Amino acid sequence: MRTPFVAANWKMHKHLAEAVRYAEIFRGHIQDASVEIALAPPFTALRSLADALTGSPIHVAGQDLHWESQGAFTGKVSAGMLKDAGASHVIIGHSERRHLFGETDEQVNRKVKAAVAGDLTPIVCVGETLDQRDADQTLTVLTEQTQVGLRGLTADQVAELVVAYEPVWAIGTGRNATPDQAQKAHAHIRSELEGIFGADAAAQCRVIYGGSVKPENVAQLSEQPDVDGSLVGGAGLDPDSFAEIVEKS
Ligand code: PEP
Repeated sequence: MRTPFVAANWKMHKHLAEAVRYAEIFRGHIQDASVEIALAPPFTALRSLADALTGSPIHVAGQDLHWESQGAFTGKVSAGMLKDAGASHVIIGHSERRHLFGETDEQVNRKVKAAVAGDLTPIVCVGETLDQRDADQTLTVLTEQTQVGLRGLTADQVAELVVAYEPVWAIGTGRNATPDQAQKAHAHIRSELEGIFGADAAAQCRVIYGGSVKPENVAQLSEQPDVDGSLVGGAGLDPDSFAEIVEKS
């Protein structure tokens, strides 16, 4: 009943010509729209990628945004600027933003609200570190990040957004969560959503998995009842490999 959502986060990879070439190859692989797809290039490639994908069902996403709409915020971009550059979605609270750049749950919340107000669909990332998992704090961390990150939203807004469960220890490490670990975390996030926003919003919201997703492991992860797709880093940099992930989702 939930359409799977699969996104590739290119991080700080690809110049303009590479982004356009990727789009040409990738869109040739995408025959139908049974899976919702988004590509998140660096800001510099948003417009070129969006133009190269015109007429296809593939969405374009920003990798971050600032919560203010304009002003003296050197280096930042707003929701309106992302929209202008062709984005319909935006990744918020990715673990690299949280752990390399000190982003907090409160900042994530401000960004989510700015995205929604700016008519962008947020892809809100949550996930525990290895220390937190080893200390048996995974579910507590997910509760906190979900509660604070989505605070103040309406049930309708939550129904439309995407939550990405990305255990920090699985990102870029080649060590993915097992299907069982992913299912437990996703079910927990969905039950938190239900507790705060109600059963309908929780049933509609896509909760996707991220962390070393590859063509070889995506099918088993996607089979889990609460896993509604994936957020892909490394394997999303190659259009053939990402198309295979989409096909198996
Ligand atoms: C990510 O950056 O969101 C990610 C999941 O990366 P990777 O697939 O490379 O682990």
